[in-house]
Amino acid sequence: MTDPGRISLSPRIDTAGATAPVPPGAVVGVLGGGQLGRMFTLAARRLGYRVHVLTDVPDSPAGQVADVEICAELQDPEAVAAFARDVRVVTIEWENIPAEAAEVAAQNVPVRPRPHVLRVCQNRIREKSFLRDAGVPTSRFVALRSETDLEAARGLVFPAVLKTSESGYDGKGQVLVREPGDLAAAWETLRRRESILEEFVDFERELSVIAARGLDGSFVAYAPFENTHRNHILDLTVSPAELAPPLAARAVEIGLAVMEGLDLVGVACVELFLTRQGEVLANEIAPRPHNSGHVTIDAHLCSQFEQQVRAVCGLPLGSTRPRTPAAMANLLGELWSSGAPDWARVLALQDVTLHLYGKTEARPGRKMGHLTALGADAATARERVLAARSLLEAS
Ligand code: AMP
Repeated sequence: MTDPGRISLSPRIDTAGATAPVPPGAVVGVLGGGQLGRMFTLAARRLGYRVHVLTDVPDSPAGQVADVEICAELQDPEAVAAFARDVRVVTIEWENIPAEAAEVAAQNVPVRPRPHVLRVCQNRIREKSFLRDAGVPTSRFVALRSETDLEAARGLVFPAVLKTSESGYDGKGQVLVREPGDLAAAWETLRRRESILEEFVDFERELSVIAARGLDGSFVAYAPFENTHRNHILDLTVSPAELAPPLAARAVEIGLAVMEGLDLVGVACVELFLTRQGEVLANEIAPRPHNSGHVTIDAHLCSQFEQQVRAVCGLPLGSTRPRTPAAMANLLGELWSSGAPDWARVLALQDVTLHLYGKTEARPGRKMGHLTALGADAATARERVLAARSLLEAS
């Protein structure tokens, strides 16, 4: 633990770009304690790093597997600074940790990705404006901040989706607006918070591209994944997406434009829509490993979490080559409605792996774990993972 009286006279600041690698054996810090931090920590420890996790929830999924779990408010600058002084590099577990915490940490130690990335990705208006300015196609949108913006919104094609600009994920804070006349009432239901109105995309499929970018600007990407959502929450990922090569290349090109545009060191996912006209549009940026990339743990030579370790520690990036096609199905809290499922049913299967996040309280919609199935082709893997999950549903 940290010595609160210690003063760092010469903080190891490299926020302007130190490039010395942080070698295995060093201490890496993670802001946030959820499942993404857990899988990052497991990958880091496999490479011989020690991991400190700063979280405001004790016995967190990441803290359970870390060397040290520090429980403090991420809003408490002294706690964050003390945490940062004890580690060689800090990364974030997901983008909704307070940007101020990342900024405080960055005064003491390199933070990767840098805090400005959080500022962009925490606000849908800033995020979509960044995408537009980076030349990445998105659905058309307008920002809604005041009554007068309602007028500008009439220029969009309806239906449209109204989303609060901050604190929305997994479909929270979103309303479908069928026609312009419904907009004022829809905004009222979001309590007139700052919002973004986007044209509804009649997509053929949803895709994601996950990429890593190193300290030296090196870049790697996984072949795109195909995703299916249920109630706005990712349900199923298939790897690889069945795509014509130019479309897969377009998705990777978007990943590169985003990473370079943000000067992002670490891992990021761009969630994409493939329209019925064959256009690839960016929906959202996650500046960290993504739920759709969980397949990479079992199905690729280097997982998205190991890529994050390598990128933030200034090491060479790993191979994104798949060992085999695969599919991932999320296990949400509702599966626990009559107690813990009978895990033996899936553990008995060949070609299926079970990942549980150590969460003790199961709530509907809460991500508790996932299953990955491997297969000779993507369709087989998909059927296999759905069949495995249905064994748990029946237990
Ligand atoms: P988001 O919170 O922006 O990631 O949205 C969650 C999910 O809602 C997406 O993965 C889509 O399934 C759906 N969605 C969001 N925005 C749109 C849109 N503009 N058009 C169609 N579907 C959308």
